Amino acid sequence: MADDLDALPLPAQDLLNPELYDSVITDAHPVTTMVTSRGCPFQCRFCSQSITGKSYRFHSPERVLEEIKGCMDLGYRGILFYDEVFTIRRKRVIELCTLIQKERMRFDWMARGTINTVDGDLMRAMHDAGCRTITFGVESGSERILKRMNRPVRDTKKIAKVFRDAKAAGLTSLAYMMLGNPDETVEDMKATRAMLRAINPDHVHISVFVAYPATEFYREGVERGLFSSDVWRGFAANPAEAFRVPTWPEAPPAETLFAEARRLYRTHYFRPHNIWRHLRAAGGLRGIRKRLPYLQALLRLRRAPAAG
Ligand code: SF4
Repeated sequence: MADDLDALPLPAQDLLNPELYDSVITDAHPVTTMVTSRGCPFQCRFCSQSITGKSYRFHSPERVLEEIKGCMDLGYRGILFYDEVFTIRRKRVIELCTLIQKERMRFDWMARGTINTVDGDLMRAMHDAGCRTITFGVESGSERILKRMNRPVRDTKKIAKVFRDAKAAGLTSLAYMMLGNPDETVEDMKATRAMLRAINPDHVHISVFVAYPATEFYREGVERGLFSSDVWRGFAANPAEAFRVPTWPEAPPAETLFAEARRLYRTHYFRPHNIWRHLRAAGGLRGIRKRLPYLQALLRLRRAPAAG
């Protein structure tokens, strides 16, 4: 595991054709991705962060700027920062934002934050440096489920405040939510619905819980015999097409969860002020045409049928 990330060579972005890369998250085109840090010190029980580790390692702001410059030279105009949590080291983010402005680098970007690592000033600095979207894992509206997940922040009011601060800073926000978590009941899902109304993000992304390998929840499921066997080990030995990722057997059935996900998308995106907000953000017919297929896919969301 590399500790000094700056010692790693720059990714060979020049091997890709920028014109092929676009994203619904930004209107900038073309768009690319960057990862400026690895690891996360938090310990959410569902998270596959075990792959990159708990210790947080990061590129220096100067090195990130060098990589950004390389992307700009190749013609990219948008960057999606896919660090697990971009905002863990406040000082590093501020330094990077200052450098981006000093060097007059003009590009739209998106980054992932956590509720407990941002504040209004930080998000304003990010906005001034070209950040347009910030995403947060909220996951559930039920404090009981957030505790079960070992989420670092469980206070609904604090979560709602960060979304207000993001808006005040001029950022578009996205909330990741998850259904079908261990011990989750229909009442908890109602709390998630209420949470979405309270925080009112610009965008929402709903997932159905999957017990990923090497996560605490997966270990618990195997130890308690909830899965008939160590299914991921079985998949690794025999990657069959018919494999279905393990949802939590004690949660409501998958059909209920996917129906709830569709309902959450519908209620969120069809609220009158959200329709208006997104029409304005689309900025005309071209923007609407770009967004429509994504919206249609969300509203049709279903569990993929088993192959074979
Ligand atoms: S804060 Fe995010 S990246 Fe960190 S452990 Fe939790 S889910 Fe994983």
